[in-house]
Amino acid sequence: MFDESHPHKSDASTRFDTPTPVQTPTHVALAPGDGIGPEITQAVVAIFEAANAPVRFVPVTLGEQSYLKGASAGIDEQAWATLRNHRVLLKGPITTPQGGGYKSVNVTLRKSLGLFANIRPCQSWAPWIATRHPDMDVLIIRENEEDTYAGIEHRQTQELTQCLKLISRPGCERLIRYGFELARAQGRKTVHCLTKDNIMKLTDGLFHQVFQEVASDYPDLDAQHLIIDIGTARLADAPEQFDVIIAPNLYGDILSDVAAQLTGSVGLGGSANIGPDFAMFEAVHGSAPDIAGQDVANPSGLLLAAVEMLRYIGAQACADSIQCAWQAVMAEGRHTGDIFDPKHSTQRLGTQAFTQAVIEQLRDASPAGGVAARWPDPKALAVKPPKRSEKTLVGVDVFIDYDQDARHAQRLGERIEAMTTSSGFALKLITNRGVKVYPNGLPETTCTDHWRCRFKGWDDRPVTHRQILSLLERFEAAGLDFIKTEHLYLFDGEPGFSLGQGE
Ligand code: NAD
Repeated sequence: MFDESHPHKSDASTRFDTPTPVQTPTHVALAPGDGIGPEITQAVVAIFEAANAPVRFVPVTLGEQSYLKGASAGIDEQAWATLRNHRVLLKGPITTPQGGGYKSVNVTLRKSLGLFANIRPCQSWAPWIATRHPDMDVLIIRENEEDTYAGIEHRQTQELTQCLKLISRPGCERLIRYGFELARAQGRKTVHCLTKDNIMKLTDGLFHQVFQEVASDYPDLDAQHLIIDIGTARLADAPEQFDVIIAPNLYGDILSDVAAQLTGSVGLGGSANIGPDFAMFEAVHGSAPDIAGQDVANPSGLLLAAVEMLRYIGAQACADSIQCAWQAVMAEGRHTGDIFDPKHSTQRLGTQAFTQAVIEQLRDASPAGGVAARWPDPKALAVKPPKRSEKTLVGVDVFIDYDQDARHAQRLGERIEAMTTSSGFALKLITNRGVKVYPNGLPETTCTDHWRCRFKGWDDRPVTHRQILSLLERFEAAGLDFIKTEHLYLFDGEPGFSLGQGE
């Protein structure tokens, strides 16, 4: 099971007659992770050995041990080389140390390896496992590289911090098209897109727009959109009404934890991170340090992720056998502590006993056989080349650090108007946290020290970068602390910026 060329080997023994492998083994990097990671990884390795899975694991160290050796992202050079060589990773949960400038291994892997889609099946296992939603079977497809997870944050004034939310058209299209392909491959019927485009009209608006465009290529699937807040409320209340959900990164992160918990336990959720050249499979849950080393962790989340990994590498029959065996143990009511309840369970098992129970069931597992390929090839996606639009620079937002309240807004506006006469710009308005405070603001508006001055070209004429530089020189000469600028562009005549209130 473990690569012979590597010193680490599994000590789990194969106790039963096992099926002959149907294909040459695929090399898969295996990171046991931290906390309960090694215990649940060992469980998966033992079950794979017993099932004679066509996989050869290549151990790789990620996480705490690498952090302690000085790799701030928890991944050292040797680990990168192993990952690049094998391109499929089964990963135990990893502890991200608090503070100290440590970067999350998970976020680093997803973004560095182009794992653009995070797939989280959230299915109830009623009547075997207690849940208030027995008919739930939702596939959550979360964008994995963009949004606020770009991690670009700044403190700009004494009072204010910002985080950039980046949404790109190719990023949306790749993810959404993959979502529709996956929905089709799994015989799903309805695909929901959840965004907040009533507020974030450009970023979430782009995600929604691309969703509608892509949906038109899949007329066999019912495509619907919901605002994220009511969508999440409905998911929590009636998850059986959902089939596939596609969402930007942050919403998808939250939604998938809500959905995984609704199925009965976070310990049941498996997850796949898919990119064009690489795939990573992991449990939804974290490293659970509170129960590490106690032989109580539920290995099901990682096992179900590993089963999907088998399907991804084309080992359908083996995946089906293992899933059948796991389901049989669930059906017998032999449960780990996190899902044990007297109504549905017959026996409380530790991690190792549960693993042996699955192995024993492998003998009798009779998979239906030949489940259709469930993982579309990301390289085969027909992503359209972006259309180039004519881009015209028409103004600039100049943000300043200015420590006064709303009563001073009128004076500030008049001062800036005076210092920018004949600059080629007209001051259109000043806002504070998006609320107009000049001209004609309200003295009651609560202000921070972060003010946005919106300039447009005089007489709505286009402007140049040179003009913007001279405008900023006037701010500098006036002693006003400009902390950032955002250029205002038209794309084919359409504003590429949100309008200020009352603009
Ligand atoms: P957690 O998921 O580790 O634990 C939350 C609760 O669920 C705990 O009570 C835990 O005992 C329980 N639990 C989790 N998995 C279980 C299982 N398989 N069986 C039984 N019970 C289980 O979340 P946390 O405590 O917020 O995070 C702990 C660490 O994990 C943090 O360092 C966090 O950064 C990391 N984390 C890693 C990943 C990942 O590697 N993908 C994901 C989330 C959190």
